[in-house]
Order: sequence, then C-alpha cells, then structure tokens
Amino acid sequence: MTKGWTKSDWRAKPRVQMPDYPDQAALKGVEAQLAKYPPLVFAGEARRLKKQLAQAAAGKAFVLQGGDCAESFAEFSADNIRDTFRVMLQMAVVLTYGAKVPVIKVGRMAGQFAKPRSAPTEVIGGVEYPSYRGDIINGFETSVEARMPDPQRMLQAYTQAAASLNLLRAFSTGGFADIHRVHSWTLGFADQDKAERYRELSNRISDALDFMNAAGVNSETANELSRVDFYTSHEALLLEYEEALCRIDSLTGQPVAGSGHMLWIGDRTRQVDGAHVEFCRGVLNPIGLKCGPSTTVDDLKVLMAKLNPENEAGRLTLIARFGAGKVGENLPRLIKAVQEEGANVVWSCDPMHGNTIKSSSGYKTRPFDSVLREVREFFAIHKAEGTVPGGVHFEMTGQDVTECTGGLRAVSDENLADRYHTACDPRLNASQSLELAFLVAEELTR
Ligand code: PEP
Ligand code: MN
Repeated sequence: MTKGWTKSDWRAKPRVQMPDYPDQAALKGVEAQLAKYPPLVFAGEARRLKKQLAQAAAGKAFVLQGGDCAESFAEFSADNIRDTFRVMLQMAVVLTYGAKVPVIKVGRMAGQFAKPRSAPTEVIGGVEYPSYRGDIINGFETSVEARMPDPQRMLQAYTQAAASLNLLRAFSTGGFADIHRVHSWTLGFADQDKAERYRELSNRISDALDFMNAAGVNSETANELSRVDFYTSHEALLLEYEEALCRIDSLTGQPVAGSGHMLWIGDRTRQVDGAHVEFCRGVLNPIGLKCGPSTTVDDLKVLMAKLNPENEAGRLTLIARFGAGKVGENLPRLIKAVQEEGANVVWSCDPMHGNTIKSSSGYKTRPFDSVLREVREFFAIHKAEGTVPGGVHFEMTGQDVTECTGGLRAVSDENLADRYHTACDPRLNASQSLELAFLVAEELTR
C-alpha cells in the first residue's frame, strides 16, 4: 500500500497507551511464535469488506459495528458469542427492512482485547494499582502481580480470537444466519414488547420470502439468503501483536493485518506522528479513525492524507464520538474538512464514548437517552449538510446485562449492580440494542 513501509517502522515513533513489558526476552519469544502462526483473516476478506464499505460511503449500504468494549478471557463462551451475533442479526434485519439497503455487519469481536486508559494507575480500596489494560495485556484482578503486563497473554488472546472467529464463520454460513430463520432469532428474548415488534417485522419478511419462492426466484438468490458476511474488528492498540500477525497478501503483494478484518485507531492514539497511525497506514485493511471533540481540522486533514493517500473508497471510516449535545459544534467542522480535501470516507456514529458518566450508585454507565440523542444529532447534521450517515458503532452484548441506564424496560441507577459484567465500558443489553436499531431505522427512512 505504502511504498517503503515496513511492519516494524512504528517502533521508531512515539508510543502511547502500550505496556512496557518487564521481560523483553519473553516478549520476543511470543512475537516469534505469533509470527509463525496462521493469520486469523485473509487479505481477500479485508478487500471484500473495503468494497462493501465503499458502498456505505456512497449511501448504498449501512455499517453496523458492535460488540464488547473489551472481550475477556473469563466471559469467553459459545453462548456469549452466539447471543451477540444473534442480536446483531436482528438489528441488521430491522435496519435492512427500514433503510432498504444492505447492512454491513462488523463485530467488535475476535480480537477486541486491548484497552487505552485515562491513567496509568488506578486507586482501588485506597491502594494504587497499575491500570487494567485488557486481557491481552494484564489481568483484571486487583493485585499488583495480576496487573503486570504478561506477553503470554497474547497467545491466549490469539487462541480465543481464532476460536471465536471459527464459531462466527460457522454461524454465518452454516445455516444459523439463514434469513428464513428470522423468527427463531427471537428465542430467549427477554422483552415482550420488543419481541412483539420484531415478530411483526419477521412476519412481513416471511411473507416476502414465501412470495419470492412462489414466484420462482432462482436458487442462486436462495443461496445468498442462507448466509451472511460477518466481519471482525478491533482497536489496533497493541502493536507488538499486530506486527506479529501482519502478513503479505499473495495477490497484491501488499501488507495486511492478519488479526482482524478491520482495525481502528482510538481517540487516544491518533497522534499524526505516533506509532499507531504509522502501523495502520501501511496495511491494506479498512481502517477506522475515532474522532472526538479534540480532533482538530488540521489533524484530520493530515490523518486522511496519511491513512488514505490514494483516496480509496471504503478504506477510511471516520467514527464520530463527541457526546450528546456536542455533535453540533464538532461534526460540521470535520465534515467541512472532509469536503475541502475531497476525501472519500464513511461517516459512522459511536454514541457510546462521549456519553460515559459515573452513576449515583458509583458505576460507570451511559444513559440510553444520551446515546439516542447523539445518534439523532448525527443524522440531523448529515441531513443538513447533505452528507451520508454511513453507519453506527455500538458497545453492546446479546446478554441481559444492566450496564447502561434507561431504555423501554428502564434500567435504573439502583439496578446497575444486578448484572454489571463488563470488563471495561458499559454496554447496551440485547433489548436496548434492538430498541436502538428500530430508532436508527426510523432515522434512515426520515
Ligand atoms: C473504545 O472504542 O472502546 C474506545 C476506547 O473508544 P475511544 O478511542 O473512541 O475512546
Ligand atoms: Mn469502550
């Protein structure tokens, strides 16, 4: 992609948010081992996703990106993967039906392990510990030993990502995701109201499928309807891991990140001359760039030129995460910057990271109303500017957790303690996720 680039060039750049491994020999050993392992994804898949994202940039498709804030070793199970996959399928059905465009499904899954933190240490029970940085780096338990960065964790993360991806591929193509099964995805759905609304929609889809069948739609189409494309993504934060899984695409000779289909650069690691931008600019995968209130117009212009020098459609997704009430003062200036450069980007809305608060009960939470409001503001501004709202990016789970407050079946501050399981930021539960999908579908058809 970028002439003269090598996968280790990032090492000469300032690094932030990455651990300093105390045992460098152990680190080298793990890197060498990972470098010999098969990549988790293939270049052809990353190129295919990029093509689909190009459609989203043009308003002919819509991106649904979602999953855990941080995947964890402890919460790793087939049920968890299935439930998140299933709620994403449901959301995609709602969005496709509403917006009448294909929905590109991208999980924050099978690799979303490393976390940037606001401070290097945190005080728990009056004692200061190194901050938890995600299971790929250190342990969540509050002991100084657990919080030491351990390179062996990369091997476990790789194994978990491989097993997750294996199951996701099986679900995507093995019959589970067949649209004819649209009704069965509701099973285990806790909320009756939403189940009802979803069932109505499923009935309409079933009718349409029966009609197509009766009208003699050919078997090739039937085959297409029996499977979905499902992609994986994560923040490219731990660059030792990313470098070790970087491969060369045999078709184009270009470097490709083998750790996931799409990588993104976080709001804390998007320094124009930093290590993370340096790594991501060289791989052919689609790249996401988180844009928060501190993103300046000048930085965005430099970043777009660095990350997408050929202005390739589908290469760059700008993930806006300003916070409810702050979209109006930030999004228009960045849209203008994109227009001035004639840049081809997908605009996506992350209504999670600008809306995190501490609840009165002490939990980190996100009010559903703020999430919703930011989504609405995002759509309203794109409408006013005549630009394309191309996707959404959620922290969500298929589980019935109580981490974000509000929603139709309201979770209150006091409820947060009931089922608060996240390893990092609060996620929308299955019911809140589906509610949001209905609301986004309304925005898309406005
Ligand atoms: C995240 O997506 O979990 C995250 C840390 O986001 P941001 O970089 O936008 O703060
Ligand atoms: Mn998060």
